[in-house]
Amino acid sequence: MKVLFLDFDGVLNSHQSATFWHSHRDQSKWENEMYADWKGSLKEYIAQEFCPIALSNMEALMGRIPDLKIVVSSTWRFGETVQTLKKILWPAKLVADAIIDVTPAIYKEGNEVPRGLEIQAWLDKHPEVTSFVIVDDDDDMEHLKDRLVNTSALHGFQYKDMLTAARMLDAEQEYDVHLF
Ligand SMILES: [Mg+2]
Repeated sequence: MKVLFLDFDGVLNSHQSATFWHSHRDQSKWENEMYADWKGSLKEYIAQEFCPIALSNMEALMGRIPDLKIVVSSTWRFGETVQTLKKILWPAKLVADAIIDVTPAIYKEGNEVPRGLEIQAWLDKHPEVTSFVIVDDDDDMEHLKDRLVNTSALHGFQYKDMLTAARMLDAEQEYDVHLF
Protein backbone atom coordinates (compact mmCIF):
# COMPACT_ATOMS: atom_id res chain seq x y z
CA MET A 1 0.00 0.00 0.00
CA LYS A 2 1.25 3.46 -0.92
CA VAL A 3 0.57 6.21 1.58
CA LEU A 4 0.83 9.99 1.58
CA PHE A 5 0.95 11.67 5.00
CA LEU A 6 -0.86 14.94 4.46
CA ASP A 7 -0.50 18.26 6.22
CA PHE A 8 -3.08 20.95 5.35
CA ASP A 9 -1.77 24.39 6.37
CA GLY A 10 1.09 25.42 4.10
CA VAL A 11 0.24 22.54 1.74
CA LEU A 12 -3.43 22.78 0.69
CA ASN A 13 -3.52 26.45 1.60
CA SER A 14 -0.74 29.04 1.60
CA HIS A 15 0.08 32.64 2.37
CA GLN A 16 -0.58 33.31 -1.29
CA SER A 17 -4.07 31.75 -1.29
CA ALA A 18 -4.96 33.37 2.06
CA THR A 19 -4.01 36.77 0.65
CA PHE A 20 -5.98 36.11 -2.52
CA TRP A 21 -9.17 35.09 -0.69
CA HIS A 22 -8.81 37.88 1.81
CA SER A 23 -8.69 40.44 -1.00
CA HIS A 24 -11.98 39.02 -2.37
CA ARG A 25 -13.86 39.35 0.91
CA ASP A 26 -16.43 41.94 1.75
CA GLN A 27 -14.23 43.87 4.15
CA SER A 28 -17.24 45.44 5.84
CA LYS A 29 -18.27 42.08 7.29
CA TRP A 30 -16.94 40.49 10.42
CA GLU A 31 -15.72 36.91 9.95
CA ASN A 32 -18.59 35.41 11.95
CA GLU A 33 -21.10 37.28 9.76
CA MET A 34 -19.64 35.68 6.65
CA TYR A 35 -20.52 32.17 7.76
CA ALA A 36 -23.70 32.98 9.68
CA ASP A 37 -25.81 31.24 7.00
CA TRP A 38 -23.39 28.38 6.43
CA LYS A 39 -24.97 24.96 7.08
CA GLY A 40 -21.78 22.90 7.38
CA SER A 41 -18.99 22.98 9.95
CA LEU A 42 -16.61 25.91 10.33
CA LYS A 43 -13.74 23.79 9.00
CA GLU A 44 -15.77 22.96 5.87
CA TYR A 45 -16.34 26.68 5.43
CA ILE A 46 -12.64 27.47 5.79
CA ALA A 47 -11.76 24.69 3.33
CA GLN A 48 -13.46 26.75 0.61
CA GLU A 49 -10.46 29.01 0.96
CA PHE A 50 -7.87 26.33 0.36
CA CYS A 51 -5.65 27.00 -2.65
CA PRO A 52 -7.32 25.81 -5.87
CA ILE A 53 -3.92 25.29 -7.52
CA ALA A 54 -2.59 23.23 -4.61
CA LEU A 55 -5.79 21.13 -4.56
CA SER A 56 -5.58 20.53 -8.28
CA ASN A 57 -1.91 19.51 -8.01
CA MET A 58 -2.85 17.07 -5.23
CA GLU A 59 -5.66 15.69 -7.39
CA ALA A 60 -3.20 15.33 -10.27
CA LEU A 61 -1.03 13.19 -7.99
CA MET A 62 -4.04 11.01 -7.11
CA GLY A 63 -4.70 10.65 -10.84
CA ARG A 64 -1.13 9.51 -11.49
CA ILE A 65 -1.13 7.05 -8.59
CA PRO A 66 -4.75 5.89 -8.29
CA ASP A 67 -4.06 3.39 -5.47
CA LEU A 68 -2.46 6.08 -3.27
CA LYS A 69 -4.02 6.37 0.21
CA ILE A 70 -3.96 9.41 2.46
CA VAL A 71 -3.31 9.53 6.18
CA VAL A 72 -3.91 12.98 7.66
CA SER A 73 -1.04 14.22 9.84
CA SER A 74 -2.24 17.85 10.01
CA THR A 75 -3.52 19.38 13.24
CA TRP A 76 -6.81 19.63 11.32
CA ARG A 77 -7.30 15.98 12.39
CA PHE A 78 -7.88 17.01 16.01
CA GLY A 79 -11.51 16.49 16.97
CA GLU A 80 -12.26 14.91 13.57
CA THR A 81 -12.84 11.42 12.21
CA VAL A 82 -11.99 10.02 8.78
CA GLN A 83 -15.60 10.71 7.79
CA THR A 84 -15.61 14.36 8.92
CA LEU A 85 -12.19 14.96 7.32
CA LYS A 86 -13.59 13.65 4.02
CA LYS A 87 -16.39 16.20 4.36
CA ILE A 88 -13.95 19.01 5.16
CA LEU A 89 -11.96 18.22 2.01
CA TRP A 90 -15.05 18.42 -0.21
CA PRO A 91 -13.36 20.93 -2.59
CA ALA A 92 -11.01 18.08 -3.64
CA LYS A 93 -13.07 14.89 -3.92
CA LEU A 94 -10.27 12.66 -5.22
CA VAL A 95 -8.18 13.59 -2.21
CA ALA A 96 -11.09 13.23 0.25
CA ASP A 97 -11.97 9.78 -1.12
CA ALA A 98 -8.41 8.55 -0.53
CA ILE A 99 -8.32 9.37 3.20
CA ILE A 100 -8.09 6.18 5.24
CA ASP A 101 -6.81 7.28 8.66
CA VAL A 102 -5.09 9.92 10.80
CA THR A 103 -1.77 9.74 12.63
CA PRO A 104 -1.91 9.40 16.42
CA ALA A 105 -1.40 12.52 18.54
CA ILE A 106 1.48 11.74 20.87
CA TYR A 107 2.41 14.03 23.74
CA LYS A 108 5.50 14.11 25.90
CA GLU A 109 5.57 16.37 28.96
CA GLY A 110 2.54 18.27 27.66
CA ASN A 111 3.96 18.95 24.18
CA GLU A 112 3.19 17.18 20.94
CA VAL A 113 6.24 15.19 19.81
CA PRO A 114 7.82 15.90 16.37
CA ARG A 115 5.44 14.89 13.56
CA GLY A 116 7.93 12.33 12.23
CA LEU A 117 7.54 10.30 15.43
CA GLU A 118 3.73 10.27 15.10
CA ILE A 119 4.10 9.13 11.49
CA GLN A 120 6.54 6.41 12.57
CA ALA A 121 4.06 5.23 15.24
CA TRP A 122 1.40 4.88 12.51
CA LEU A 123 3.83 3.06 10.19
CA ASP A 124 4.76 0.62 12.98
CA LYS A 125 1.14 -0.54 13.02
CA HIS A 126 0.88 -0.83 9.23
CA PRO A 127 3.48 -3.25 7.83
CA GLU A 128 1.43 -3.41 4.60
CA VAL A 129 2.88 -0.02 3.58
CA THR A 130 5.28 -0.51 0.67
CA SER A 131 6.07 3.13 0.01
CA PHE A 132 5.20 6.51 1.51
CA VAL A 133 5.81 10.22 1.26
CA ILE A 134 5.23 13.00 3.77
CA VAL A 135 3.95 16.31 2.40
CA ASP A 136 4.43 19.13 4.89
CA ASP A 137 5.67 22.73 5.06
CA ASP A 138 7.38 21.92 8.38
CA ASP A 139 10.35 19.60 8.60
CA ASP A 140 10.09 18.03 12.06
CA MET A 141 10.23 14.56 10.52
CA GLU A 142 13.21 13.28 12.50
CA HIS A 143 14.69 10.17 10.81
CA LEU A 144 11.99 10.25 8.06
CA LYS A 145 13.28 13.47 6.42
CA ASP A 146 14.32 11.61 3.27
CA ARG A 147 10.63 10.83 2.63
CA LEU A 148 9.58 14.48 3.00
CA VAL A 149 8.31 16.70 0.20
CA ASN A 150 8.84 20.00 1.98
CA THR A 151 6.42 22.57 0.59
CA SER A 152 6.76 26.33 0.86
CA ALA A 153 4.14 27.89 3.18
CA LEU A 154 4.15 30.81 0.74
CA HIS A 155 2.88 28.77 -2.23
CA GLY A 156 1.62 25.44 -0.85
CA PHE A 157 1.71 22.20 -2.88
CA GLN A 158 3.13 23.26 -6.24
CA TYR A 159 3.38 21.35 -9.51
CA LYS A 160 7.07 20.63 -8.88
CA ASP A 161 6.14 19.16 -5.48
CA MET A 162 3.60 16.90 -7.18
CA LEU A 163 6.31 15.65 -9.56
CA THR A 164 8.72 15.04 -6.67
CA ALA A 165 6.09 13.10 -4.72
CA ALA A 166 5.14 11.05 -7.80
CA ARG A 167 8.78 10.25 -8.47
CA MET A 168 9.38 9.19 -4.86
CA LEU A 169 6.34 6.91 -4.87
CA ASP A 170 6.98 5.45 -8.31
CA ALA A 171 10.65 4.69 -7.71
CA GLU A 172 9.80 1.72 -5.53
CA GLN A 173 7.33 0.44 -8.07
CA GLU A 174 10.02 0.42 -10.75
CA TYR A 175 12.31 -1.39 -8.38
CA ASP A 176 9.67 -4.09 -7.79
CA VAL A 177 9.31 -4.61 -11.53
CA HIS A 178 13.06 -5.23 -11.87
CA LEU A 179 13.11 -7.44 -8.82
CA PHE A 180 10.47 -9.83 -10.09
MG1 LIG B 1 1.68 22.99 7.97
